[in-house]
Amino acid sequence: MKFKALLSSKTNDRVSTELVDFDEADLMDGDVLVQVDYSTLNYKDALALTNERPVIQKFPLIPGIDLSGVVVESSNAGFKAGDRVVLNGWDLSMGHHGGLAQRARVRGEWLNKIPGNLTTRDAMAIGTAGYTAMLCVLALEDAGVTSEKGDVLVTGANGGVGSIAVAILSKLGYRVVAATGRPEHSAYLHSLGAAEIIDRAELSEPRKKPISAERWAGVVDVAGGPTLVNALAETRYRGAVAACGLAQSDALHGSVLPFILRNVTLAGVDSVNAPQDVRQRAWDRLATDLDPQKLESTVQQIGLAEVLEVYEQIIPGKVRGRIVVDVNA
Ligand code: NDP
Repeated sequence: MKFKALLSSKTNDRVSTELVDFDEADLMDGDVLVQVDYSTLNYKDALALTNERPVIQKFPLIPGIDLSGVVVESSNAGFKAGDRVVLNGWDLSMGHHGGLAQRARVRGEWLNKIPGNLTTRDAMAIGTAGYTAMLCVLALEDAGVTSEKGDVLVTGANGGVGSIAVAILSKLGYRVVAATGRPEHSAYLHSLGAAEIIDRAELSEPRKKPISAERWAGVVDVAGGPTLVNALAETRYRGAVAACGLAQSDALHGSVLPFILRNVTLAGVDSVNAPQDVRQRAWDRLATDLDPQKLESTVQQIGLAEVLEVYEQIIPGKVRGRIVVDVNA
């Protein structure tokens, strides 16, 4: 059986991607076959498709780091035909065919059942970005941050992780300060629940002082680089910073003073290889702690072929919120 898929190939160090008719017999090994409903476009997908970083390790490969859909057949005891499932990360779009296709054969241990009343579309409106935002919120909670302890900062607030982090934290009662380079989208950020908006330039330049006035009880940082260093320097006594991204830089040239003078926690967040119990905890919380209307307001939906027109806008930061891909459109 043939189905529609995007397929990335590499020639002379150049990655190119096209829409193809893919044969189900050519899918890779796995014990669960999924009829894909939706995938998404994340920053990592843009890194893969532009070849800005070597995300795809095996060519030709179907890209797409996440998917949601319905199980068609399974020899894995944990899943049966008809189960609604979501997959974020693991080896997708790295060494295994990914989600930007109408079918996927994957390892059952990579799948999570979609919880509660969430639809397959909700699961991808959330996608890897929203699931990562929830991992960041859980990291702050685990480090003892609560809404009474003060403001929380979200960097890259107009992006996918940032938008969903703002929505979750505000629903949980936090006073959220959103840092952005695109103040023209302030109304959108306020509608997601941001109480205050600051220019990301306030945080993006290296500073001389290793520690600054205390501002944040918690931080969700997608930027890395000087932004992360400055956020750490402004974090309050016993506060925490969840670091998940490198939108500014993967460098971290800072001081230990926030850790040893203010007992600040720097919590790393990885979504790709997170163990199943951590994933399930995040997905269960996403089913309850994210306002569906706010989630919908972050979404722009496109079809499979349109991915080829949109992915280049992501790394320059021209896309707002979440891009959901209806692979059957
Ligand atoms: P998006 O492209 O949707 O958002 C990134 C946002 O970062 C932009 O919208 C922009 O926000 C901000 N930004 C861009 N350039 C800079 C800069 N130079 N300095 C400061 N901020 C900047 O990406 P995602 O939300 O999908 O991902 C965000 C980051 O998180 C990426 O680095 C991604 O690789 C990482 N990530 C990591 C995961 C993990 O498992 N650790 C999982 C998912 C994502 P604005 O316009 O508001 O300024």
